[in-house]
Amino acid sequence: MLDCAPVETPPQGRNRLNVIPRDQHCISRKNISDSALKVMSRLRAKGFQAYLVGGAVRDLLLGGHPKDFDVATDATPDAVRELFRNSRIIGRRFRIVHVRFGREIIEVTTFRGHHDSDEAAQGAGHSRQSASGLLLRDNVFGTLEEDAVRRDLTVNALYYDAGNFEVFDHVGGLEDLQAKKIRVIGDPTQRYTEDPVRMLRVIRFAARLDFQVERETERAIAGCAGLLREIPGARLFDEFLKLFMSGYAEATLEKLLAYDLLRYLFPEAGERMVEEEVALAVVRAAMRNTDQRIAQDKPVTPAFILAALLWPVVQADALQRQEHGEPPMVAMHEAGQDAIGDVVQHIAIPRRFSQPMREIWEFQLRLQNRRGRRAAELVDHRRFRAAYDFLLLREQAGEDTGDLGAFWTGFQALSLEERLQQAGSGGGGRQRKRPRRRRAGPER
Ligand code: ATP
Ligand code: MG
Repeated sequence: MLDCAPVETPPQGRNRLNVIPRDQHCISRKNISDSALKVMSRLRAKGFQAYLVGGAVRDLLLGGHPKDFDVATDATPDAVRELFRNSRIIGRRFRIVHVRFGREIIEVTTFRGHHDSDEAAQGAGHSRQSASGLLLRDNVFGTLEEDAVRRDLTVNALYYDAGNFEVFDHVGGLEDLQAKKIRVIGDPTQRYTEDPVRMLRVIRFAARLDFQVERETERAIAGCAGLLREIPGARLFDEFLKLFMSGYAEATLEKLLAYDLLRYLFPEAGERMVEEEVALAVVRAAMRNTDQRIAQDKPVTPAFILAALLWPVVQADALQRQEHGEPPMVAMHEAGQDAIGDVVQHIAIPRRFSQPMREIWEFQLRLQNRRGRRAAELVDHRRFRAAYDFLLLREQAGEDTGDLGAFWTGFQALSLEERLQQAGSGGGGRQRKRPRRRRAGPER
């Protein structure tokens, strides 16, 4: 149910500009960031149009508190740049302006116009599509109505005018918001062809908002899914972060599997998850764990989720290598190396995450060793916590680790002295060098 549903249902019909006056929706300026209000009022004062748009309007209408605020305007990026000293133009595919207020960034986009039939504009380099229809560049400017139909989903194409408090809906977004529907604007096949990442966005918002995917929006996915192979690895990684690090990872995972899209992010791991219950269980547990941590405002790292996603692949490969005579640690190291090498062909995992992933995997072997000084000192290792959490995850998923988790739970609660003693390392802590005794001199 829409938290702040309009008092009257707006006139039905898509592709008609519906204007919803202030007394028929409950967006309040109180819930809008001061910085966004400032940007919009400055633009309006200079004679431009300026609206709050996208996720912020959607979330305000759902009664939520948006985390970021995007503004759409008819001012060109250069004009916006000139109006705000604290701003810079970013992007090539889409030129947008970031206006900075301390740590907050307001993203200002100029209304997009039609690009497909506009050959003059294409020739001038404002808009470009690949042979397969992928939109390479889209900097043709237009009106609010044109901008609305260039957006991805109907619920993401609502505009709020903070000057006279009206909401503008050109694509039936309000109706879909009320019906809890995720619907791509226009013809889904064409829109996915222009930008295949929109399929991932459909999944992300359906999971996050707990909305139903509309039939045509859903149906076109199977035929277009392969286009995701054209997306550069860096963009896929950005999308991966939004999919799995926003607090709805578990629901997102289920949907990615249901629509058979996970394989385009993680080909081998995705397949294994479909085939093996345990492989899926460990990933599911990692997702749930991450969601819970985000809900509790605890820090999370993509390395942990990524380590879980690839674990079934790494583990199977490491075992196979051991069967061929490689020592366990070498086998694990090589398997980890290979798994990462393969996956970065599709999705660009930065080294600052792939390194800890490898450490988490290799630590799983070190945790098997319960005896000796090494075991006692492992608890103080900077990667211990993540590796221990990962071990518990594996157990939660039904892997038999010989009760290792319980051992390390108890063991880490002990002091180093006690651990050394229990691990059979003699106790007494690190053997401190005794201060060399002064040679006994003559008694004074
Ligand atoms: P979030 O709360 O996750 O930020 P959002 O809806 O604001 O959600 P953004 O990724 O910040 O999502 O994008 C801002 C807006 O830009 C979207 O609401 C949508 O209107 C438009 N948009 C983003 N990506 C695309 C795309 N690939 N194709 C078309 N429109 C897009
Ligand atoms: Mg946003």
